[in-house]
Amino acid sequence: MARWRIVARATGLRVRVLTEVAGEKILYLESPQGRNQAAADYLSTGVHGDEAGAAWGLLKWAESNLQQLSTGSFLIFPCFNPAGLRNNTRHDHRGLDINRRFDLAQDPITAPWRKLVSERKLRIGLCLHEDYDSQGCYVYELCPPRQSLSSKVMSECTQRIAVDPRRIIEGSRAQAGVIRRSKLPPNFPGMPEAFVLWQLGCPITLTFETPSEFSLDDRVAAQAAFVAAALKHAPTP
Ligand SMILES: [Zn+2]
Repeated sequence: MARWRIVARATGLRVRVLTEVAGEKILYLESPQGRNQAAADYLSTGVHGDEAGAAWGLLKWAESNLQQLSTGSFLIFPCFNPAGLRNNTRHDHRGLDINRRFDLAQDPITAPWRKLVSERKLRIGLCLHEDYDSQGCYVYELCPPRQSLSSKVMSECTQRIAVDPRRIIEGSRAQAGVIRRSKLPPNFPGMPEAFVLWQLGCPITLTFETPSEFSLDDRVAAQAAFVAAALKHAPTP
């Protein structure tokens, strides 16, 4: 977060407090008034604390793209689960998986998040994760079929780590690392961030996964390249 504050100072992004849990602030960054009238690019990571490559990858992208952050409209959640990141655990300080709780009205983290996000117009949402079972990079895509951009994006971010070659990933059909979904599998436990973002009106949400057993440097590079490519190919509203 110290490095995110440096990014904020260099770009004019505001650092704000979403909420405070267990004596710890959960921070987010947003473009200042005026710039945030345009539909914002939503970037988030650190929901699962044992996925360090995703959290570092978003920071690497930000530190390398100060000009874009200075002029565009952004809403950024760099560290949803600080206790989990420190302890290298998927679950948060309560022992809960935040990414199954985005629909809950009473949750102290996701309820203020939902209020904030429902008041913003978004262009695209990127949720950055990692997967222990994965054999390469893959992405879940939620958007109208004619706006599908993931094949192009994957071709530009898989130089350091190739696309996961599996045809079935986490029980879903995958094509060259792209899983298109319009609804959750039956009996899926709880609501992940990407689905609630979509329900709240974000027209495209992409959940990107790098393989957590691969080299950290390569995962960080792949995550940063994914953010760059996805923002480049996102349609202008
Ligand atoms: Zn995850």
